[in-house]
Amino acid sequence: MDVLPCPTCGIRVFPESCLCANGHEIAYDARARTLVEAAAAPCCANRDRLGCSWTAAAEGELCLSCATTTVVPDLSAPGAEALFAATEAAKRWVLNGLMRLGWFLGETPELPEFRLMSEKIKGRRQVVMMGHADGVITLNIMEADPATAIRRKQEFDEPIRSMIGHVRHETAHFLHDRLGREQPGFLPAFRNLMGDERADYGEALERYYDQGPPPGWQDTHISEYAAAHPHEDWAESAANALHLEDLAQSAAELGIRVEGETMLDRAQTAGIGLNHMCRALGQPDPYPMVISPAVREKIEFALSWLDRRRRG
Ligand SMILES: [Zn+2]
Ligand SMILES: [Zn+2]
Ligand SMILES: [Zn+2]
Repeated sequence: MDVLPCPTCGIRVFPESCLCANGHEIAYDARARTLVEAAAAPCCANRDRLGCSWTAAAEGELCLSCATTTVVPDLSAPGAEALFAATEAAKRWVLNGLMRLGWFLGETPELPEFRLMSEKIKGRRQVVMMGHADGVITLNIMEADPATAIRRKQEFDEPIRSMIGHVRHETAHFLHDRLGREQPGFLPAFRNLMGDERADYGEALERYYDQGPPPGWQDTHISEYAAAHPHEDWAESAANALHLEDLAQSAAELGIRVEGETMLDRAQTAGIGLNHMCRALGQPDPYPMVISPAVREKIEFALSWLDRRRRG
């Protein structure tokens, strides 16, 4: 994530903030990648309610990110509004990172549509299946609840489970569809590396939940779930590619020098360093993923297609 100067005092601040450290009200123009004075620009209609810092096209309208939410969750359960805000923040973070890589710009940005649901609604629970289908992404805002996230990290043995991770994973499915339609070389190269995504998805998932991943999956896949089907291999590899790209770019923005020849080298060094620093504070490793040579090839592949700046 970029760190940008406040237009009033020049102090550097993350664009997710509505205030700089000196108390100036700022807003983020995501297309121009700059901070502006909040009083001088139309701000997103969700600014006061959800803390969205982005600008909008006109006063009273939603920003590009908030406007992708077509289903707003039931907010009747206590704390739901804060989880809604946290989910929107994760979505902004991911979309902003993808815009930096060249996605969702131009006249027709072709964004996914997001349905935000809550498994917990007043007095009862409902099942919310997170996923992507035909450009529509469903997210469960309860996943933004820290206690729920920790419980599920253990339950599903997913050490980096997070709302940003969910948004990256599901958006990666959406981008797979777009790459398949827009880039003639993508699908053959993808099938060559990760397998044929036309294989029966329902059957593959049933087999995965019945028998688990194949033995030795660690050598070839970033996670157990990635081994379930080529679509999930892509989504998991792409989500990790976006995590690592953001990690290396954030370190560079903050002026932290990290050794390494390629961006991925620097990201891995930064990840190891970050784990070490967190241990100093008695905190768990934030990025404990093991990246085998085969997995690294998949992450490099995903990055080469996700970074549109490389393709002109
Ligand atoms: Zn300022
Ligand atoms: Zn907004
Ligand atoms: Zn998936």
